[in-house]
Amino acid sequence: MDDVVVVGGGIIGAATAYFLSKEGRKVRVIERDPAYKKASFPLSLGGFRRQFFQKENINLGKFALEFISDISNTLKTKNNPNPTASMVPNGYLLLFGPEHAEEQYEALKNHKACNAGTKNIPASKLKEVFSWINPEGLETATYTDSKIEGWIDPHMFHNALKNKAIELGAKFEKGDVKKISDIKAKTIVSAAGCWTKELLDDIPVAPQKHTVFRVKCPKHYPEMPLTGDLPSGVYWRPEGKEYLAGSPNSKFDCPELEPEWDDFENLVWPALANRVPEFEQLKLTGGWAGYYDCNVLDNNAIVGKHPKYENVFLATGFTGRGLMQSPGIGRGLTELITTGKYQTIDLSCFGLDRIFAKKKRTEPYVL
Ligand SMILES: Cc1cc2nc3c(=O)[nH]c(=O)nc-3n(C[C@H](O)[C@H](O)[C@H](O)COP(=O)(O)OP(=O)(O)OC[C@H]3O[C@@H](n4cnc5c(N)ncnc54)[C@H](O)[C@@H]3O)c2cc1C
Repeated sequence: MDDVVVVGGGIIGAATAYFLSKEGRKVRVIERDPAYKKASFPLSLGGFRRQFFQKENINLGKFALEFISDISNTLKTKNNPNPTASMVPNGYLLLFGPEHAEEQYEALKNHKACNAGTKNIPASKLKEVFSWINPEGLETATYTDSKIEGWIDPHMFHNALKNKAIELGAKFEKGDVKKISDIKAKTIVSAAGCWTKELLDDIPVAPQKHTVFRVKCPKHYPEMPLTGDLPSGVYWRPEGKEYLAGSPNSKFDCPELEPEWDDFENLVWPALANRVPEFEQLKLTGGWAGYYDCNVLDNNAIVGKHPKYENVFLATGFTGRGLMQSPGIGRGLTELITTGKYQTIDLSCFGLDRIFAKKKRTEPYVL
């Protein structure tokens, strides 16, 4: 019998394998597509932030920075002596209209309690800090400018975690797990992302297709933060000499990952040009679509032991934030598995009790 089997070798599986291996557990990771063609993490925007409503999500965002900043030491291996996640710490800027302002003032209390370093600015003063912005229709905004939020290269980060886990003894194997009961192990971790329901049919997580567009613009702002325009739901950030922009539109029941090209002209371009007048001159240069592991109950993570099994743990439902939460979730699950309780960030609020009781704990900051 195996010691630990992790089903799914994506970013959550790799992070969990790393932390468990560090604690001396013998981990086997089973991944059905080692090229990760449809997995969520390589198709993500790579963003990490601490600007959330709930304290646990804020603290997971803080730990992401701490962990990623130190991977040149912690994830160094013989094969990968200089691990990097290519961090771009340009910060995040979140823009709120009157309809979201009150909630945002409440969120700021949590940011403060968690010492998140978030700054609040009224819309009337936005142009003093971000000269490119049209603040029309906005009420308030929050941002960080001390290199504590930004984005990374998801593939490089995954590679560094996987390499280190392997050096510590983990084995990554190709395989398609059809039923959780097919696995014989002391501990089983389901890290199957948006496909979790195929293994655990009582978990309310579904693949939700999101489209990202690549655009170029004669005017380039390399220092631009990852900006989320809450009134339109559009978000964007620089990518090399171009920009990436996410559509607010999402779709369930899409077996193929064809981008929703019409969203560009109908939704994304108008919203971008409204907020950054220079974006009127955008040219579409590409795009892709990927699945969010959407928790359809409350858009929040589902993490912990499955109460119906002796030995099954799971982590899924991150709804657009699994990459940034992977270090904190991998560490937290390892604490739970090896000591019976969380030792650092208390992740009990993401446990399965609320799921089966259908008690929503909605995180409003979904981009
Ligand atoms: C367009 C887009 C933008 C995003 N932007 C961000 C962002 O800026 N920041 C952020 O933090 N997050 C972002 N995300 C979300 C993030 O990518 C996901 O939350 C995260 O990747 C989830 O990690 P995971 O390991 O659970 O799932 P995945 O990365 O999907 O990995 C799951 C793996 O499990 C494997 N698997 C599934 N079932 C089985 C089985 N039965 N047997 C064997 N293997 C199996 C799959 O093949 C897959 O490789 C974004 C996602 C998308 C699509």
